[in-house]
Amino acid sequence: MFGTVCLDCGTRGTMHDALARVAAGEEDPPCLDCGGILKSSTVSFGQALDEEIVRQSRRAALDCDLFLAAGTSLTVHPAAGFADLALSAGADLVVCNAEPTPYDGHATAVLREPLDEVLPALVAACTSRPI
Ligand SMILES: [Zn+2]
Repeated sequence: MFGTVCLDCGTRGTMHDALARVAAGEEDPPCLDCGGILKSSTVSFGQALDEEIVRQSRRAALDCDLFLAAGTSLTVHPAAGFADLALSAGADLVVCNAEPTPYDGHATAVLREPLDEVLPALVAACTSRPI
């Protein structure tokens, strides 16, 4: 959400720069390289995932000790499958989601509190203990 990507040429930039152009009067700032459409570099439904990022995510899921799934129904693949990979590799799973997920029964902990409350509490708890 902090980056932009051009849908035509793939040029990446910062959201800060794009929003500065909007503030300066451009209604819908185009790509500075090719004039194409800029969008947030988040992944939209129906948009293909970057294969390198998927590969890195699989590796991280296989190598982690604890897999934190936050704000996801864990129903959309391939991302939902990363929880399976982590569990199969022996990691603990913590689900932070307002609604039940298919993985709740496999989780070490399931937290239903709002993410803006539970995530800072988790970070504080993890950073106050020696690793
Ligand atoms: Zn472009």
